[in-house]
Amino acid sequence: MARVLLIEDEASLRFTIEHGLRRAGHEVLATAEARAGWEMLESCDLLVLDWMLPDEDGVSFLRRLRRTPAYEKLPVLMLTARAAEGDRVEGLLSGADDYMVKPFSLAELQARVLALLRRTSVGGVMRRGELEIDVERARVRLSGDEVGLTRREFDLLVRLAEYPGRVYDRDTLLDDVWGGDYLGTPRTVDQHVAQLREKLGSGWIRTVRGRGYSFEVPQ
Ligand code: CA
Repeated sequence: MARVLLIEDEASLRFTIEHGLRRAGHEVLATAEARAGWEMLESCDLLVLDWMLPDEDGVSFLRRLRRTPAYEKLPVLMLTARAAEGDRVEGLLSGADDYMVKPFSLAELQARVLALLRRTSVGGVMRRGELEIDVERARVRLSGDEVGLTRREFDLLVRLAEYPGRVYDRDTLLDDVWGGDYLGTPRTVDQHVAQLREKLGSGWIRTVRGRGYSFEVPQ
């Protein structure tokens, strides 16, 4: 799961891609214009960029992106309408990590997005709204400020935040986070959820009565 920015001016295609990527568990920001897209880049893990846009062509957008230090490594999947120009296309797309020629299947797009995320290893940091979870360094930031969590609190948060909206029962969480040998009770999970809520604020972890807990990005 990642935060994907989609810049595509063709409304039906934008809709299809946006919803397809959401169904695959990604958070998606979508816009028809390069200018608006540039403003949305900051928090994104990957960009899906159409070549032909009304206000700036995708190739010039891509060049600008690669000249900007903050975005020079942002994974970019370019969408193009034609492949006929061969080498020229390849040349122009040299700043893109991958590209797809329209029409393409949604399944292929999803597979390529996943492959690109893996390859560029941005998967180490999960971004959920204002919350940033650096899994490799075991650090959490909320609105840019570091939040000190215990190891169990951190592991529990990672487990829940990996799939926002998915409900986990207490026994599963106990097993996954504390390990099968741990002699705790479901109350252990409740206590840690309470501690996380105290540190992060109450909106992030939802109690689903009779079922367990799920992670949510507060609106
Ligand atoms: Ca277009």
